[in-house]
Amino acid sequence: MYRFAPSPTGDMHIGNLRAAIINYICSRQEKTNFILRIEDTDKARNIAGKEEEIKEILKLFGISWQHYYIQSENLKFHRQMALKLVSEKKAFACFCTEEELNTKKEEAKRQNKPYRYDGTCENLENIQVLENEKPFVIRLKKPKDAMKFKDFIKGELCFEPENIDSFVIMRADKTPTYNFACAVDDMLEGVTCIIRGEDHVSNTPKQEHIRASLDYEKPMNYAHLPIILNEEGVKMSKREAHSSVKWLLERGILPSAIANYLLLLGNKTPCEIFTLEEAIAWFDLKKLSKAPARFDLKKLLQINREHIKKLDDESLNAYLKTDKNLASLAKFYTQEASTLIELKEKLDTIFSKKDFNEFEKECAILKEALEKCESRESYDEFKQDLMQLSGLKGKSFFMPLRILLTGSIHGPELNELYPHLKPFIKELARKA
Ligand code: GLU
Repeated sequence: MYRFAPSPTGDMHIGNLRAAIINYICSRQEKTNFILRIEDTDKARNIAGKEEEIKEILKLFGISWQHYYIQSENLKFHRQMALKLVSEKKAFACFCTEEELNTKKEEAKRQNKPYRYDGTCENLENIQVLENEKPFVIRLKKPKDAMKFKDFIKGELCFEPENIDSFVIMRADKTPTYNFACAVDDMLEGVTCIIRGEDHVSNTPKQEHIRASLDYEKPMNYAHLPIILNEEGVKMSKREAHSSVKWLLERGILPSAIANYLLLLGNKTPCEIFTLEEAIAWFDLKKLSKAPARFDLKKLLQINREHIKKLDDESLNAYLKTDKNLASLAKFYTQEASTLIELKEKLDTIFSKKDFNEFEKECAILKEALEKCESRESYDEFKQDLMQLSGLKGKSFFMPLRILLTGSIHGPELNELYPHLKPFIKELARKA
């Protein structure tokens, strides 16, 4: 059982989408279920509408799920389990105030030591947790032994009790912390493998410790995916525009191209261009590189051009929002445009009223000739007919022709463009 557990706190980051895609692929390979769990327990950070956006994005990528959970609906279980841990003396109520803790943190900093909870409230006797009026959090006692776990990508990892610390599992407002809610839910939902970004590595021993304290014995598999660096080699922050999946989609990059690109990162694949469905046949989690991956927008754009070329006419026309069949013309223009937005701009220029500039006279003559000339199979025949009808030649023929047909003085070779433009010549002449 696999899961993707996004928080509805911002635009989906490409690193999160990569985790979703890989979890989904593994669940399909193992013919097991895939869970989508919205981790919404940090109310202050939730953003309205993000939950729907996450679902929309996953659907665009062809990712479907068998189970859907909203984490906050499990709150009663989180509370029950926290109280169980308190009653078994595995966890304790901590009344230390923010101020007290901050003073201790500052002291540790002064001494150049990492801060660790000092156990102040660990052995308070007979606390009536529920009735006590002073606000308190619940901390899980740190483990006695080191916590070890195996990671498919990073190998075996080991964390000392000191570094796990007696950490907070329930906040003073009686909501669970991320680690507690996540560990309990993964247990209750029967998750068997967790694939997520490596920024969560230090949470894993805590989550293992939580489940062990709740006497859960089923082993959990892990794969922590290396972080994605930006083009300068620095961790790609949420604030960088192209780390946002929404931004990439709005730019006109196809979901299939984004998925393809994310699966190429730190991976040796049997081919460069593929669909998510195809990747299910050969993807191997264990073959992913440990090294951080570097995001390369140029490469993504090149992959996008290849995916645009592979689209069927109907889908490409739908993406271009046109009722004409512009698919062949659009595919031809991928030599100049990498995104659907850029392609649409190119095509709009072709089909809009043209600016004749210094070729006013020649364009007017050619326009008339174009309306009269027969539809011809080859560019050469078309060109000859048109030269004859217009009486123009050389630069005063080719430049105006290019303007009339494409709206710009530069661009692809006309003989290569002609077969794709042929069905529209009359329309272009009329509109020019
Ligand atoms: N809600 C966490 C996040 O979005 C989930 C991490 C996990 O997969 O456990 O980063």
